Amino acid sequence: MLPVVAHVMSPLRVNILRTLSPWEYIHFPAQGFQHSEYRTMTIAKNKVVSIHFKLVDAESGDLIESSKGSAPMAYLHGANNLMPGMENALEGKSVGDEFQVTIAPEDAYGPHHESGIQTVPLEALKDLEKIEVGVVLTANTENGPANLQIIEVGETEVTVDANHPLAGRTLIFDISVEEMRDATAEELEHGHAHGPEGHHH
Ligand code: ZN
Repeated sequence: MLPVVAHVMSPLRVNILRTLSPWEYIHFPAQGFQHSEYRTMTIAKNKVVSIHFKLVDAESGDLIESSKGSAPMAYLHGANNLMPGMENALEGKSVGDEFQVTIAPEDAYGPHHESGIQTVPLEALKDLEKIEVGVVLTANTENGPANLQIIEVGETEVTVDANHPLAGRTLIFDISVEEMRDATAEELEHGHAHGPEGHHH
């Protein structure tokens, strides 16, 4: 025989009398919150994200690249598609967010190594049709093909730089998050975004 008080406090009544915490209010009608959940979707691993961006050299203020006037750039988040500093800044952002981030060389294209600057005898490049400052040559090295930018042309020698053109530079990005969706199984397998602004096969 149960005590009388237990009959009064039926499970339903216990629930009604109990004060719901904000946490429970959010989770109780779970099926009714699909739209809200969608609106608060944030950038995380395995999302395909479209962004508009403007890239400026922090020191000179020179515009390096901008997606303005073209389609936004789509990338797969968490797959090293972007430089680490840019990906870290995008983590947790939502569609509609606009922000600026300054990225040190270590989180962009790395430091500039003096050892990357070398001289090549002009004779060795005689088969090339254009030898002038700014031209990028591809050289076969022990580690595979490497891009070398001509930075000086002398009488008998040419000075080339194997560093990435943006190595050693602090970069300022203005970024706006345009679109976001879950990556497809194929995109996850390939490690990049597909579609109009992503890869085409
Ligand atoms: Zn692919």
